[in-house]
Amino acid sequence: MIIGIDLGTTNSLASVFQNGKAILIPNSLGSFLTPSVVSLVDKDEILVGLSARERLSTHSDLTASVFKRYMGTNKQIPLGRKFYRPEELSSLVLRSLKRDAEIFLGEKIERAVITVPAYFSDAQRKATRIAGELAGLQIEGLLNEPTAAALAYGLHELPDESKFLVFDLGGGTFDVSVLDLFEGVMEVRASTGDNFLGGEDFRNSIVDIFIEKVAKKSKLPVEDQKLLGIIRNQAEIVKRALTDSSSVEMKVNWKDTSYTMSVTGEEFAVWSEPLLLRLRKPVERALRDSKIKSSELDQIVLAGGATRMSAVRKMVARMFGIMPTSSLNPDEIVALGAGVQAGLKMKNSELKEIVLTDVCPYTLGMEVSEKIGREFKSGFYLPIIERNTIVPVSRSEIVNCIQDNQREMKVCIFQGESRLVKDNIFLGEVTVKFPPLPASEAKADVRFTYDINGILEVEVHVLPTDEKYRSVIEENPGVLTPEEITEKLKRLEKLKIHPRDKEENRAVLSRAERLYEESLGETRRFIGEELGYFVGALDTQEENLIQEANKRLTKVLQELEGDNYL
Ligand code: AMP
Repeated sequence: MIIGIDLGTTNSLASVFQNGKAILIPNSLGSFLTPSVVSLVDKDEILVGLSARERLSTHSDLTASVFKRYMGTNKQIPLGRKFYRPEELSSLVLRSLKRDAEIFLGEKIERAVITVPAYFSDAQRKATRIAGELAGLQIEGLLNEPTAAALAYGLHELPDESKFLVFDLGGGTFDVSVLDLFEGVMEVRASTGDNFLGGEDFRNSIVDIFIEKVAKKSKLPVEDQKLLGIIRNQAEIVKRALTDSSSVEMKVNWKDTSYTMSVTGEEFAVWSEPLLLRLRKPVERALRDSKIKSSELDQIVLAGGATRMSAVRKMVARMFGIMPTSSLNPDEIVALGAGVQAGLKMKNSELKEIVLTDVCPYTLGMEVSEKIGREFKSGFYLPIIERNTIVPVSRSEIVNCIQDNQREMKVCIFQGESRLVKDNIFLGEVTVKFPPLPASEAKADVRFTYDINGILEVEVHVLPTDEKYRSVIEENPGVLTPEEITEKLKRLEKLKIHPRDKEENRAVLSRAERLYEESLGETRRFIGEELGYFVGALDTQEENLIQEANKRLTKVLQELEGDNYL
């Protein structure tokens, strides 16, 4: 069995193709959304998901979130006393989803399709694959998130020759893709995006205003991580509430005092204006690259939880002059699409074969020297595979040495759009040998092959000697070596995910602890008493008592937080 996984910045989901359609897999709490948050409880025990997210403000030094943003980089994220790489933390989320899927399906799961933002670089894709490997999953393919969104909407049911745009605004990333369906072939014509723009930035605009207008004026310690955590949490509640209400009161409790600020939908729209403007650029670029006019689009598909914001929906409708398609739950679309793809991979007979093509989301090329005046100057970029070329693709360029009798040529590989390589991302290099020859005869054919999984292979064919150098791009700063993967696996094996059957208790405990810290006076004392009762029940280890105490505490928390609970 192959499962589909949407490994999101904020939440992750798993799905499977069953009885002719993709369905979502519930986690131990019965929810489809597992927050992509990891928290350390004991030395070797970790929480994943909701119970971990509840600890973001109460145990910020033991809890890690939004690590997807750092995939493919060397960033080390602290968790307790140790540091972890983003792919290690992601692997813990994947491990938790795998375990939920195994319980739900009643069989061992070892294969998965994982979705990634379309413009994820080579290093980011590799890191995602490694995260899968670290979680004990064989990755059957990486699927671009917008393509997944398209699959979820069942492209085969659309009339032929449809063109549409997927507008995917998640927690931390923004993806725009233009797709074209023609004679059963689905083509991603262009993919652009911004991997530092998402729902969290909209929330942060509320955080910033609260800090400016309330916290600083009241001399609150805004550098305190715990306080910041509470402000963020409350801003998130306000942001979501503004989807349905025109005005919301934001309330932050800190050291026996309540600090409030009222926010209207219009105010929020004004604060978000710079972000709304940033959403336009990738859309314009995707249309330009795909050579499709906005008037030719048949549908605008919304994906990603943040497209629920009315300011975003309004902007999309205004921009395209049509109402966006949003019949499926925007949080679930990508995961459902991953499930469809998993079904395709299993060659499920119930699925009509849809041919999918994809594009390489960025330009790949090499460094060359250019003659400036009489001298050669290095540092220039020769694009080999242009961005938004349909993949799999193989392209080559003939290059030659710049000096007579040059014995060596270094092919430096880059990704990016700038004319100077220093402004692009270095991916690796291959050094090849030449016999002594005049420069004009010392030629090499440099071939770049980019496959459907976003993996790049470079082959340098030295024409005078007929020697071929295949490159494994070694110096990929953000990618672990096989030895490092083995070492990380050993380290991760020691970490045990909190027992699944106890997850319900753990989640309610974390939630009560958070609410205790956020509340004041009478309410706080009351939560303290209820918490004490619950912990007492846990200590008895008697299932009936624990269940009854869980129900009681959940009811109390629900009454206190009501609809404000995320
Ligand atoms: P995703 O990465 O697709 O799971 O999207 C998560 C983002 O969607 C987060 O930034 C959430 O704050 C945002 N989101 C979820 N529900 C809502 C809502 N009702 N209104 C506004 N934003 C939401």
